[in-house]
Amino acid sequence: MADIIIIGAGLSGLTAANYLHQKGRSVLVLEAAGRPGGRVQTTEQDGFLLDHGFQVLATAYPEARALLDYSALDLRPFKPGALLLQPDGSRGRIGDPIRDPGSLFPTLFAKAGGLSSKLGILRLRNQLARLSAEEVFQREERPTAEVLRGEYGFSEELAARFFRPFYAGIFLEPELRTSRRMFDFVFKMFAEGAVAVPNGGMGQIPLQLAGRLPEGSIRYNSRVAHIEGQHVHLESGAVLSAGKIILATEATGLVKDYAPAVNTQFVSTTHLHFRAAEAPLRSPLIALNTRPTDRVNSLAVMDQVAPGYAPAGQHLLSVAMVGQQMGTDGELFAQAQQELSRWFGQAAAGWQPLHLRRVKYALPAQEHVQGQASYKIRDGLYVIGDHLLHGSINGAMQSGREVAEQL
Ligand SMILES: Cc1cc2nc3c(=O)[nH]c(=O)nc-3n(C[C@H](O)[C@H](O)[C@H](O)COP(=O)(O)OP(=O)(O)OC[C@H]3O[C@@H](n4cnc5c(N)ncnc54)[C@H](O)[C@@H]3O)c2cc1C
Repeated sequence: MADIIIIGAGLSGLTAANYLHQKGRSVLVLEAAGRPGGRVQTTEQDGFLLDHGFQVLATAYPEARALLDYSALDLRPFKPGALLLQPDGSRGRIGDPIRDPGSLFPTLFAKAGGLSSKLGILRLRNQLARLSAEEVFQREERPTAEVLRGEYGFSEELAARFFRPFYAGIFLEPELRTSRRMFDFVFKMFAEGAVAVPNGGMGQIPLQLAGRLPEGSIRYNSRVAHIEGQHVHLESGAVLSAGKIILATEATGLVKDYAPAVNTQFVSTTHLHFRAAEAPLRSPLIALNTRPTDRVNSLAVMDQVAPGYAPAGQHLLSVAMVGQQMGTDGELFAQAQQELSRWFGQAAAGWQPLHLRRVKYALPAQEHVQGQASYKIRDGLYVIGDHLLHGSINGAMQSGREVAEQL
């Protein structure tokens, strides 16, 4: 019998399991799916690595730095900043001239706000560099949209042409109702490190954590039906017991039955993969669609960032849409091609649809986020997960580390 049962092998559960194992505690992780990772997974199809949604790792995440072995993950960075697909069909570039000096002139000439607004980005960078991640999560909580125009004084144009599409793609909601604490945290993380993916796909992150646990510590295809006292009942009928039980499912899963106060609101995304013979972009940048009426939010050529994502001579296009999109898969593929043809011309019609994924529970709603949480439900029963802090790899891992420390 294990000392501790963890329900869910997402990043929060795996992080807790890793730290508890390091401290000599025996853990058993019960996972409903056939593999680890929860929301962070990669599926191989015809030699292409398809992440389950457009996901990236900010290498500055303190929790990831502390626990992950970055060199074993073979991380490959995006170029800092973004390529702006502008409403008139032209392209512009927003860079970070400190990390990528070559982006200075394109940034100055991008049609996304005046010079003072662009210098405001550098000012904010310096301001946030002076705050710790904990301090960022103690700042006054207001919607991101409000602070961009108010406190930070960015021009309407910069907010609309850069921040809105960039952060809509991260928060997965276009109005930027998400707490400014989350905006500040993401901004700080992106300024202080690279934005990267493992060459073997984002799924390498949970695989690394799972691989460090002793053989037999994770039972896959083991969906938990309910908990009674210190007994865990599986859907298969099996019953397992432990002195401590940690619930690490998403908020709308088993968690909500035992911790009714958790945040069960969420946002969704729709994600498309295409294969292409020619790469539509020339460098490993995230391209942002700045037309607010379009459905496509971003485009990246994944093999330009990390060659492992596509077979030699072919290209993998990752196209993200915010929210749950109506329409059949075929209609959405056609819509994406039509919208992107504004910038990529006839070539877009030749992209071949590979896979479409609708991620209903993608992130917890983040109007309110925090840097600390209470994990204990009652003696012997604990809850962790990104929904308690904020929806990110770092938030999920922090909850896992902190519960392990408490135990
Ligand atoms: C499309 C998308 C894009 C994202 N982009 C980024 C990004 O770029 N950067 C970033 O930092 N974060 C990103 N995130 C957020 C990040 O992936 C999550 O915050 C994090 O993975 C959540 O981990 P978790 O352990 O809290 O939950 P989950 O990953 O949801 O893990 C819960 C686990 O519990 C299991 N489970 C559920 N019910 C049961 C049951 N009854 N019995 C047993 N097991 C059960 C599930 O199968 C799952 O494995 C993104 C998320 C999505 C979906």
